[in-house]
Amino acid sequence: MFSRNSTNKSTIISFETFLSGTPAQDYVMQDTSYEEQIARAVNMIRSADYVLLGAGAGMSAAAGAQYGGKYFEEHFGEFQNIYGKNPYMRDMYSAGFYPFPDQESKWGLWSKLALTAGADLDVTPLHRSLLGVFEGKRLFLLSTNADHQFEKAGLPTEQIFATQGSYNLIQCKRGCHPKTYYAVERFREMDAARRNGRIPSDMVPKCPVCGSDMAMNLRVDDHFVEDAAWHEAERRFGVFLSEAQDKKLVLVELGVGFNTPTIIRFPFEKLAREHENISLVRLNIGDGAAVPASLGERAVGIDADMAKCIADILSGVRGD
Ligand SMILES: [Zn+2]
Repeated sequence: MFSRNSTNKSTIISFETFLSGTPAQDYVMQDTSYEEQIARAVNMIRSADYVLLGAGAGMSAAAGAQYGGKYFEEHFGEFQNIYGKNPYMRDMYSAGFYPFPDQESKWGLWSKLALTAGADLDVTPLHRSLLGVFEGKRLFLLSTNADHQFEKAGLPTEQIFATQGSYNLIQCKRGCHPKTYYAVERFREMDAARRNGRIPSDMVPKCPVCGSDMAMNLRVDDHFVEDAAWHEAERRFGVFLSEAQDKKLVLVELGVGFNTPTIIRFPFEKLAREHENISLVRLNIGDGAAVPASLGERAVGIDADMAKCIADILSGVRGD
């Protein structure tokens, strides 16, 4: 049985309890046909009253978010010229970790990166059609993505818990106080003022409390700030799960690999393992699509292009 927090939130599952999942020891790649797998996913979704979506990097990638290759060269070529085409300067994810010589250079790149991967990214058509699959259901999204794509596609903020931060927010680098700051307009000013990869010194953001440098509000170390909105989203997630876990609940996992499996993948498996009323639909590519054999008919893992899967599931759910 799922344990509950026994203090002041006696009926609400805590996020920490949810996270205490253990990895499955019995992964199998299901050998049924694609059509059969889609049909099973459609059945699970149709018969569910509650849907908990879990979205990882694979969802943004499938929706068209391009992080490397030609796309990176087109948008970040100026930084490749400055820093060289080293392993950092080949995709947006790696570029963020470059050991910048100073804050002017750091924010020169990061302002551009945050806008490109966040506020200015628009890969919502797939997110929108995905949301169409769950019309009429009680829906909540747990996401490790920082790009706000589901919000742009129309999912209310109240139904979203993005655990790893946001490309729109900055925080004290030391995490000295539990607040984040909306920085999109500031990023646009930096982007316009950048010369040779650097922003003017007077634009470098400083912590209003301790005066130290600022950082993106992304979970890269243990100084990550969980602000009031983060805790409110965590609470809403707990309320949703507490209500849903004993009902007809389907967990729909989208592109969650083994990079951060402890937030969505393992806890989803644990939930399904401990509740016979819960089923699991896992969409991924390659090994990521494996599901625990012990879940039997209650789990389906589909190893195929996610955009195609979602289109096929949508027509199945609508009875086309
Ligand atoms: Zn500070």
